Amino acid sequence: VIQREHEIKQLLEHIVILAETNAIMYNVEIETHYEQGMPLVPCEENQLKQVFLNLLKNAIEAMPGGGKVTVTAKMEGQMLLVAFADQGCGIPEERLGKLGEPFFTTKDKGTGLGLMVSYKIIATHGGTIRVRSKEGEGTTFEVRIPVG
Ligand code: ADP
Ligand code: MG
Repeated sequence: VIQREHEIKQLLEHIVILAETNAIMYNVEIETHYEQGMPLVPCEENQLKQVFLNLLKNAIEAMPGGGKVTVTAKMEGQMLLVAFADQGCGIPEERLGKLGEPFFTTKDKGTGLGLMVSYKIIATHGGTIRVRSKEGEGTTFEVRIPVG
């Protein structure tokens, strides 16, 4: 049972600071859009940070030639929606089903564990992760978590 509630804007701001060094190395700009007056979210703060940091790092790493990542947080009915949209390489359709499989990575130094762990953490929060991607155009990961 999740006991504590946290302010998502503050949590995301912290994640963006943590990812900033990576972003600079990749020549990636991080743009943020946080809706005003979002309610507190019942969650394990450190677990949620782990998920968001992984998704943000993945977005940055998908753009070795630079670009922009847009982080959006807003309410969608009774769900909190946090989206990470990149302008990176995209994910071929036949590979979408492999996301979240342990050790599936396309990176030299990847572990292929980030998404698997992220899916598990969000599931324990009663939420979902959805991916939309277009090869050569970019990818958006959408995390939904029930609030209240
Ligand atoms: P890792 O980052 O260690 O490779 P992840 O589980 O975080 O492990 O991601 C698994 C794989 O999913 C990545 O290696 C990459 O191929 C693909 N992937 C994840 N996020 C993105 C993204 N935003 N754009 C393109 N590919 C992605
Ligand atoms: Mg990763």
